[in-house]
Amino acid sequence: MRMTSLLAPTMKHPPEGWKDPGAVRLMRGGYALSWENGEWNLLPLGAIMRDNICWFFLERFLGDNLQQLDSLLATPHGLENLLRRSVQSYRDLPLRTVESCGGSLLLGGIEEEGMSLKDISHSIFSSIKECLSSLNLNCEEVQDLCERGARSRLVFPEESHHTFAQEGVICSHCGWHGTTTSESGRDQGFQGADSPVMKEVYTPDTCSIEALCAFLNIPSAQTIKTMFYMVEKGNEWQMVAVLLRGDLYISDVKLAASLGATSVRIAAEEELVRAIGQKPGFLGPVGLPPSICLVADRSVVGCRDVVIGANRPDYHLTGIVWGRDFSTERVADIVTLEAGMDCPACGEKLQKSWWSDVADLWLDQVPDEPFFYQDKEGTSRKCRLWRGRLSLDVIMTTLSRKNTFSAGIAPFDVEIIVPAMKDFEAAHLAIDLYCKTVQAGMAVLFDDRDERAGAKFADADLFGIPVRVVVGRKAAEGIVEVHFEEDTREMQAEDVPLFLASLFDDDEAEL
Ligand SMILES: [Zn+2]
Repeated sequence: MRMTSLLAPTMKHPPEGWKDPGAVRLMRGGYALSWENGEWNLLPLGAIMRDNICWFFLERFLGDNLQQLDSLLATPHGLENLLRRSVQSYRDLPLRTVESCGGSLLLGGIEEEGMSLKDISHSIFSSIKECLSSLNLNCEEVQDLCERGARSRLVFPEESHHTFAQEGVICSHCGWHGTTTSESGRDQGFQGADSPVMKEVYTPDTCSIEALCAFLNIPSAQTIKTMFYMVEKGNEWQMVAVLLRGDLYISDVKLAASLGATSVRIAAEEELVRAIGQKPGFLGPVGLPPSICLVADRSVVGCRDVVIGANRPDYHLTGIVWGRDFSTERVADIVTLEAGMDCPACGEKLQKSWWSDVADLWLDQVPDEPFFYQDKEGTSRKCRLWRGRLSLDVIMTTLSRKNTFSAGIAPFDVEIIVPAMKDFEAAHLAIDLYCKTVQAGMAVLFDDRDERAGAKFADADLFGIPVRVVVGRKAAEGIVEVHFEEDTREMQAEDVPLFLASLFDDDEAEL
């Protein structure tokens, strides 16, 4: 490709509003175009590079016997329809598929009954991890929940918050990573006095935990929040009282998953008044109507000497003990995991971290009518469906934080630069070299613009093409400079195609 016919508008200054260093580099390097609303579109360089990354992973997946599909995984029920047509016996399983869809590779599979999310993600993620590590990218595996249930994730740890980064937690002691919906640690109920006396205390205008703690001069961990949720299960809505330590927050995703609900929402004031006869603010678990189901977070279990709502306006109960004054049959992990909480792996305090999502994988919800296959003994067994996604865009932006891209991933293998196109001999030699390298099967970008040398080199730095051939001062003698990695060599132009071919063969052997 000649630069004069390439659409790659480079920018001197970073675009406004973009903090991800990789995304900024792509935009400055003319790989992508940013819009004021935070969207972006790839330009030719970016599109070629994303195709290269896509193919790099596809090749690996095809090698692992995944079947490449087109527009099937992206359609609702596509995987189920495939299953209905293609799976009868254990011999047809596993059936694993992959499909390219914009900035992602969609994944999906049908497995034997006994396969767990862990088994499946282990096998798929190990291929992805190997591919990433050959690109010098390190990722971490994280387990958490999403609206559809349990999920395995691969994430890139980030140093700060930016465009694609999400907030998570990390344990600096043992290195454990998590997201807000990962399983929380050993946070326990507050441990106060041994056998406190329960008292009803007048606590006017203390509708919030902050106001209550200020009034009683106690830490928020010594209170128990009682939150009322409406929970949807099989088209029916039910009221649930959710108990948690006063310093923690409910994760709707975890709550829905623990109750097996399709959706959850905080109960409206009218609904509370109808069910309990009171507005929120002073409600607690003691003496609620039996129609309201109670569920407690693990942070409530075993608490001693805590404060709860008295179910009477302007009053709270103090000196409350789990098991003596209240308890719930249902205990689950329903709080968002945040900095300051205990590490699930080692118990040390967690710290705030950031990550960007590379891949995730989850079990597909079992349809109302499960699908069956015949096992070796002829017994009918349920198929297991899973889905996943690999984000090519996140991989591309993360790779773009490096100065140069590797051959095979970069949009071009070689960039030929002539500092002065007016130098007839140099221009002539460069055109000849361009034709020969292209004929040798290389992807070559030829900067044939009539620009200042400084501008050409500045652009070349932004493009990050792995090999740069400069046809300059010694062109009259047929000598050019080849720059790659940290190395620079002078050689006869006629030797360049062969030299580059050997360089890329070595590179491919490494990948
Ligand atoms: Zn830890």
